[in-house]
Amino acid sequence: MSISRRGFIGSAIAASVASGLNERGLNAQDKANSDAPASGQPFGTGKRPIIICANNGVNYLDGAFSFLKNGGDTLDAAIRVVKGPEDDPNDDSVGLGGLPNEEGVVELDACCMHGPTRRAGSVGGVRNIKNVSLVSKAVMEHTGHVMLVGEGAERFAVAMGFPRENLLTERSRKIWLLWKETNSTHDWWGPGLADPHWTPPSTPPQAALWKERIHRLEEHAARLGIEPEWRMVAIRRVLSPPTGTIHCSALNDKGEMSGVTTTSGLAFKLPGRCGDSPIIGAGCYTDQDVGSAGATGSGEENIKIAGAHTIIENMRHGMSPLEAGMDALKRIARNYNNDMNKLKFLDMTYYILRKDGAYAGVSLWEGYSDKPHKIAVHDGTRRSEVTVALFKGASHEFPPFPVNMPKELTQDSVYVK
Ligand code: ASP
Repeated sequence: MSISRRGFIGSAIAASVASGLNERGLNAQDKANSDAPASGQPFGTGKRPIIICANNGVNYLDGAFSFLKNGGDTLDAAIRVVKGPEDDPNDDSVGLGGLPNEEGVVELDACCMHGPTRRAGSVGGVRNIKNVSLVSKAVMEHTGHVMLVGEGAERFAVAMGFPRENLLTERSRKIWLLWKETNSTHDWWGPGLADPHWTPPSTPPQAALWKERIHRLEEHAARLGIEPEWRMVAIRRVLSPPTGTIHCSALNDKGEMSGVTTTSGLAFKLPGRCGDSPIIGAGCYTDQDVGSAGATGSGEENIKIAGAHTIIENMRHGMSPLEAGMDALKRIARNYNNDMNKLKFLDMTYYILRKDGAYAGVSLWEGYSDKPHKIAVHDGTRRSEVTVALFKGASHEFPPFPVNMPKELTQDSVYVK
């Protein structure tokens, strides 16, 4: 699932709700959104076997579900789902074709947990190896360690028989080059949103200046040979570097479960940056006694609340999957003292599965009205369901775009594949 660097462009509704929240405080809004939809039962209440994943895995659920139903291992089933986007050169958020770091090098992160044997494996900052979900499983099975990073992880993968290959597709390389050549003064160096002295950027340039800037970017993209139909996508990526990840959790009819998360992480990140995806307890956590959960979204925020682990512990202490996830989202809000001027630039989605098959998908923001955040599910029927959001509307672009941005850049198709 590809999302912007810190969320989506804000809609008018988001802006108005956000300011409303400032006045009213979070509680009323939390309650309103926690209770939606009206049935109070937004998700399934317990069917096994079942697989849940980020919506970019929906096309890979059928095969994985048959495998699971026929007795396949839960981790192998989950990896069958995430391997699809890892292998897909057109998914620029995971594996082959993932958007690179600021030096133009693709660095991948992944982790997995196998419930029945209570084992875990993880790799961070891996170059040249496409299927890092499988490498994380190899760390779990073939080493006495849990986490390998960087060059050591790559060398381990090669020793395990994984082929080295160039992960930078031509399209991703050209998008990176467009970013490098036009936007290199707006990078990840310097204090971030979490810095106590951070202040919102000054008023964005007038729309007319943006139009001119985008026109120049389009010309530049054409000169770099980016296909016409990809130019606005590329410009969007350059102006607001996206994140993107896939998580999958699987539960069989015996109650065994596993989880896996894999990503190319934040586009144009500093080399060596690891997000939440390879962090056991943040990007993924499975406890055979309780459930399995994973995350996509603003990795730095999720690490700070150990999101997946927090959700599992919440369920262990009696919360439903939905309540457990909403509590984790509120912890992210709390970390910013519920300051909507900052929270509007973040986004986070959790995918939550309990041992009895009950599940939930929750998000900090709803996303666009015609492109809301979704969780994909297969429990005999494959479907995508809209997540329950803590805040109404969509999070904002960072740095902010002017309100009357050119239409081509505010179409959903430009943002999310
Ligand atoms: N959480 C991932 C990261 O921060 C990105 C994402 O989920 O979109 O690397």
